[in-house]
Amino acid sequence: MSRVRSKDTKPEVLLRKLLFRKGFRFRLHRKKLPGTPDIVLPKFRTAIFVHGCFWHLHDCKRGTLPETRREWWKSKLEKNRERDRKNFLLLNEIGWRVAVVWECAFRKHGQDSKEHVISELSLFFRSKDLLFLEIPPAANATPNLDSTEEKENSGEEKEPMAEIPK
Ligand SMILES: [Zn+2]
Repeated sequence: MSRVRSKDTKPEVLLRKLLFRKGFRFRLHRKKLPGTPDIVLPKFRTAIFVHGCFWHLHDCKRGTLPETRREWWKSKLEKNRERDRKNFLLLNEIGWRVAVVWECAFRKHGQDSKEHVISELSLFFRSKDLLFLEIPPAANATPNLDSTEEKENSGEEKEPMAEIPK
């Protein structure tokens, strides 16, 4: 299979709704831009990618490699990541700013997580000097692929276990 990203995923549709509700206007799946960003806001010259943690090898619990055919997955998913990075750089080079919203950003705090994502994005749209934003932010610059620990909660308030969706 050659397609990595599927269009109109759940978190993608959710983010569109949130943006629209806040008054942001956008376009979808701009094929002319590197990586075909999921959501584009021409007014802010910002491209948004809504990334599945597994397929784009996020540094979180959902971004861990499967136990079977580990090497095969590793090379496949690392290629995805590499391609993402190249696309982000290309976009920056032609004057587009890039925001990556990981799917796990919506799973953490229920209603609060939606507010968090949208307020982070709003700030990013209006800050002219930042070129790249990741939500949630990367735990460290070079993700440790062998780690099975969830690092995304570090430094944040603990939530009761029952609140965390499976
Ligand atoms: Zn994640």
